[in-house]
Amino acid sequence: MINSPSPVMETYNRLPISFTHGEGVWLWNRDGERFLDAVSGIAVCGLGHAHPAVTRAICDQASRLLHTSNLYRIDAQQTLAEELCRLSGMENVFFANSGAEANEAAIKIARRYGNLLGIKSPAIVVMENSFHGRTLATLAATGSRKAQAGFEPLVQGFVRSPYGDVEALLKAAESRSDIVAVLVEPIQGEAGVIIPKPGYLSALREICDRFGWLLMLDEVQTGIGRTGHMFAFEAEAVTPDVVTLAKALGNGVPIGACLARGQAAHALGLGSHGSTFGGNPLACTAAATVLSTIVDQNLLEHVVSVGTHLATELKKVCADFAGFHELRSRGLMLGLEFAHDCSELPRIALKHGLLINVTSTRVIRLLPPLILTEEEADLLVQKLHKSIRILHDTRVKSSEASQKP
Ligand code: PLP
Repeated sequence: MINSPSPVMETYNRLPISFTHGEGVWLWNRDGERFLDAVSGIAVCGLGHAHPAVTRAICDQASRLLHTSNLYRIDAQQTLAEELCRLSGMENVFFANSGAEANEAAIKIARRYGNLLGIKSPAIVVMENSFHGRTLATLAATGSRKAQAGFEPLVQGFVRSPYGDVEALLKAAESRSDIVAVLVEPIQGEAGVIIPKPGYLSALREICDRFGWLLMLDEVQTGIGRTGHMFAFEAEAVTPDVVTLAKALGNGVPIGACLARGQAAHALGLGSHGSTFGGNPLACTAAATVLSTIVDQNLLEHVVSVGTHLATELKKVCADFAGFHELRSRGLMLGLEFAHDCSELPRIALKHGLLINVTSTRVIRLLPPLILTEEEADLLVQKLHKSIRILHDTRVKSSEASQKP
């Protein structure tokens, strides 16, 4: 049935499996087989599947009120915005439904900010290999020609700079007068968990201050505890002007948020932006429960300790493989880079009851739920080790076969 023709547009390269239910870090298929989820719905289900507090909050809210629209005050939205501002040091929030939409809001803020400064055609610096979404503006901001191909004409107003390269950014700053903002991921997720050198965000802050630009951080993947901080920017003493969030904020209930402070917080005036669903009572109640659970259960400390354990154990087993290049990690955001193509690995891992993701062809990306225990981390390592061994042996066999006369 899974392979029969589908009325769903074929935009995704899906694995041949579907799930019926989940609990914690585990997912089950209809045959009752259990899978350790080291993807979390691409960094979404930080609290794992069917988290009792989130389920209770959603059920309770759904039984009273799902949606009223932004024509009226939404109390759950006010409460969530207050908590997000308290945690992040930002001033106010625009609510959307996804990461791309949160970034669209950030891009609109930057353009309005530029316009208010008298810059007619403002430009935003974005990075090589970045990922910001699939809407037309965020696609143009994304640093992947493959993702953009066929969707031209692209939205104008972006200047590309190499990620992690402060000198290159300074050069761009000195050669143009139309730049108004930098949009950047604190760690590049889709590009393969690329972690810039310490001091990068502080250097960006300094440049933004010097040239009057907004520092806009895309924390759609890194935010809400993933790196062991509520926001990845907390690793450096930096306060951005704009922060975008989505993914883990709702633990599976779609919600996006664009947080701002200072001039950025007041760039969008009445009627200048909106969303029918953005910040509805259901999504905001789910998100508020996610935040309070992370704080009340000290999950940030847990992420640091279980993440360190996982990275240490993975390094030990990966050292066995000739093609292993390096492990990059912060908290529970891990990338294992190999010298060769690993794109077959998710299929192999599936056979061993493990869900993983491979990005940029050669990087195994692990984004397990933040509630992962040490025992579950050890199981993850065992299953991944077995899967890499199979990929490795298959590669050795096929290369031997191709060398036979
Ligand atoms: N920004 C980053 C850093 C992301 O990783 C993603 C998705 O992977 C997005 C934006 C887009 O988010 P969404 O798919 O919710 O639109």
